[in-house]
Formats: sequence, C-alpha cells, structure tokens
Amino acid sequence: MELVTWKRVAGWRCRRCGKCCRDLDIMVTPEEERRLQKYGEVFERGKILTYLRKLNGKCIFLRGNTCTIYSERPMACVKYPFYFRLKGDAEAFFQGIYVYVDPSCPGLKITRCPVPNFEIAAIIYQLLKNEKLIIV
Ligand code: SF4
Ligand code: SF4
Repeated sequence: MELVTWKRVAGWRCRRCGKCCRDLDIMVTPEEERRLQKYGEVFERGKILTYLRKLNGKCIFLRGNTCTIYSERPMACVKYPFYFRLKGDAEAFFQGIYVYVDPSCPGLKITRCPVPNFEIAAIIYQLLKNEKLIIV
C-alpha cells in the first residue's frame, strides 16, 4: 500500500462504501480482542498479531456496507484512512508525528500540491486525542 502525506488531502468524507472492510486486514489489540471475544470466533491469529476474521472476502462484522459493531470497532477501523508514524517525510509532519493516508479510500480527494487543509487537520487532531490511537 503506497501511502501519501496528509498535506495531499484536499477533503475526505467517508462514503460508507465498505471497501476498507473488504480490502484491509484489521489488526486488533489485546484489549480489543478481550472486548470483542463475546462475539465468538471472530479472530484470525497471525504469527505475531491478531486480526478480525474475514468471511467471503470481507470483515466478519460487515453486513451489506454496514458495520454491525460500529461503536465498538477496533482503532484500526476508527483511524482509517489515516496512518500515524513516529518517523516520516517532512511533508507528513503534524504536531510531533507523521501522518499519511491510504489514497485508495474513495472518500479522499487527493491533490498533487501539498497544502495543509484545516478540515483534515481537525480530523487528525481529533484522532490524536484518542488515547487508544496506535502510532508506529
Ligand atoms: S473505504 Fe473510505 S469511504 Fe469507503 S467505507 Fe472505508 S473509509 Fe469510508
Ligand atoms: S469492524 Fe466494522 S468497520 Fe472494522 S472492518 Fe469490520 S465491518 Fe469494517
């Protein structure tokens, strides 16, 4: 996945298309695993990490294009299409960390010219306030 810096984003609205729920492998933290285990066998165990199980090419919690655990969804879903890094390009810098997006999200409007967009900055700022946000 080729990420682009947040300064290339001219706008974002989630279209609720469910593409990310089909395309991505959603990692869950140990705390999320404990919280979601009430739903039964909903995990795939990798060598190191644990992911949400996929059924027929989509997240086990997706019905149509709707997430059936929306208020409980893992942080990997909450923050998508944004990615937070401890290191990165100068263009990705945002308040001490580095922020990127996955340009394959259909809700993003990507431009060639890097210009900070206040609406996007506000979304990133809100995500950064979440204490469960994972920065790698
Ligand atoms: S791919 Fe993007 S627009 Fe579609 S549901 Fe996911 S976040 Fe929303
Ligand atoms: S938990 Fe919900 S938002 Fe996350 S991938 Fe599954 S269906 Fe999509």
